[in-house]
Amino acid sequence: MTGGARFASLLLILAAAGFAGSVQAPFPADHRTLRQTVSYDQMSTFLSAVARPGFITVTEEGRSTQGRKLYLVRLNRGGAKARFKVLYYAQQHGDEVAGKDAQLTLIRDIAEHPALLPEDVDLYLMPMLNPDGAEAHTRTNGTGADLNRDHLLLAQPETRTLHRVARRIRPHLAVDSHEFGRDGDGYTKKGWTAWPIITMDAANHPLIPEALKTMGLAAVASAAPLQARAGHAYQRYTVGGPPPDEEIRPSTSEVDDGRNGMGTLGALSFIIEAGVRHRAADPQADLGERVDGYRILYRHLLGDRSWRERVRKQAEQARREPLPPFIATNTFWANRGGKVIPVKVIETATGRTLEVPTANAMTDLVVKGSVPTPRAYAIDPIAAARFLPVLEAQGLRWETLAAPRRVRLERVRLLRLEEPYDDLYQRYKDRQIVERQSQAEVDLPAGTLIVPLDQDLARRAIQVLEPCLLYGLYGYPGFRELARPGADLPVSRLF
Ligand SMILES: [Zn+2]
Repeated sequence: MTGGARFASLLLILAAAGFAGSVQAPFPADHRTLRQTVSYDQMSTFLSAVARPGFITVTEEGRSTQGRKLYLVRLNRGGAKARFKVLYYAQQHGDEVAGKDAQLTLIRDIAEHPALLPEDVDLYLMPMLNPDGAEAHTRTNGTGADLNRDHLLLAQPETRTLHRVARRIRPHLAVDSHEFGRDGDGYTKKGWTAWPIITMDAANHPLIPEALKTMGLAAVASAAPLQARAGHAYQRYTVGGPPPDEEIRPSTSEVDDGRNGMGTLGALSFIIEAGVRHRAADPQADLGERVDGYRILYRHLLGDRSWRERVRKQAEQARREPLPPFIATNTFWANRGGKVIPVKVIETATGRTLEVPTANAMTDLVVKGSVPTPRAYAIDPIAAARFLPVLEAQGLRWETLAAPRRVRLERVRLLRLEEPYDDLYQRYKDRQIVERQSQAEVDLPAGTLIVPLDQDLARRAIQVLEPCLLYGLYGYPGFRELARPGADLPVSRLF
């Protein structure tokens, strides 16, 4: 072949792959060799350089508590044909970096090879939701708040921004991106390291329609052969451990985090967690492998066209689905029948993989308490000022009574707030123990806020307002003061 012919055929190959020129990036060409995370400043520079009119759009959607920008990157080459809306967001916890790095390398690859992005996909990325925590290398944000425990109150600008963006986009598919420690105290004492380097789970909140949850779990399982082929230790995301004595379970269905927050907005919603060895000489030595594991899952969830059509239809149907007649208020993970399963661990000294049998893997979600679904919630005038910013941040619809109104009301009394962590049942602190009072016809005073459940975001309204939830608002500062043991809670149920 002559030099000219070779050059021409190279051009053909590049055109076939949709090559659009190389991009200056703060990471290596091969993401698998990445050993250092991208900083906020490096990311800002990269994003302004990679923007392409009509293809890659970078917008500032808000500011962190310390004034750093919260970026949204939209990748779209199909215009209005891109009907499948996807939102991948990362680094709510500032010291958990791999999801962000995976997203940035994905943006670079798509910028260089646009054909990697299917034309029917409208892809939105928020790679760094907690830039203050990223800079300080802390889990929490600039004011010390854990953002992934703020999806009920949306008291922080970072979570408020995420939810505002999500309500605007209404993604059919959403992924929250985290990292966990593989070498915590429990494992280290036994001479072990947790086996997986990359994990994923689907949203599991009781209010998410069953079909959506089933579809999510199927996608978690079908990623396994892809990760195995790439040589990554992969399993469904669990918390707890080590086996066989400690409990192992999927992430709680009761804390309102990003994964369940987006799930109740009507998205097929996931959490990805990569595993970090914090005690390793260089915890970032395997960052490239974690990033590769992440990218495999991000790509896997985009699936093929028929999968995307199915997810789109299922998510849109979930949004129209009527509320169930009952709301589960108390759920926990259990092992029905005491099944024994093997759990993989790595023997740290030898690097060997061991299988430890355990009956303490709790993978069945049990509903322990439910209440009938009301028609609406009523918020006492005295608590209105506390609740208004939450209703606003959640995008909920409400009415303020201008004059008294006669309604059928069920008040809910707080018996006590159980503060400590429950070691026996392994449950979070601040459990609300309540007693429903009998329904009565009452005149609600002017100034009462009424939040109807015949609204688009009814499932979010329930998550935020239902007073019978074992885990509700009243453990949070500012709301704790509104809940006195022996007195009625400020939110009542309307029938
Ligand atoms: Zn996290």
